[in-house]
Amino acid sequence: MNLGEPEGGSGADADESASVPPPCDSCGTVSTAKAGPRPGPREGPYVAVLADSSWIDPVDPAQDGRRPVVACSGRCLDRVRAVLASRPYTTVELWAGKVTRAVTASQGPPVRAELERATGLTPPQIRAAYDWLEEHGIWLERHSR
Ligand SMILES: [Zn+2]
Repeated sequence: MNLGEPEGGSGADADESASVPPPCDSCGTVSTAKAGPRPGPREGPYVAVLADSSWIDPVDPAQDGRRPVVACSGRCLDRVRAVLASRPYTTVELWAGKVTRAVTASQGPPVRAELERATGLTPPQIRAAYDWLEEHGIWLERHSR
């Protein structure tokens, strides 16, 4: 797992696609880098991918549980790390997020096979996910056969 370190070395300059820099996940500061071809020198942003079982990736299910974070400084990155490290990583919470995404995306109650395909989970894992959701006061439509 890549917990990521602040990028300060050479050659790791691949991500220049974002036109609007995301705000710091700790203090909300938006990087002041100009949208020119050559941003000036700056301390941040620091980027990292941190383990977080509550993170469901909006684009890539393979990244579920791996929360991308942005911080304006090394200190803010440490704060974000501390917050995430203070909560347990719970696999069933990750399953619950996958089930929630699949049920929310489906039109009406999902068919069981669709739910299994959409989440990549086994029936016992899906049952555990529903149980976890109900324990946390979240009621989703149950799948149909
Ligand atoms: Zn910050």
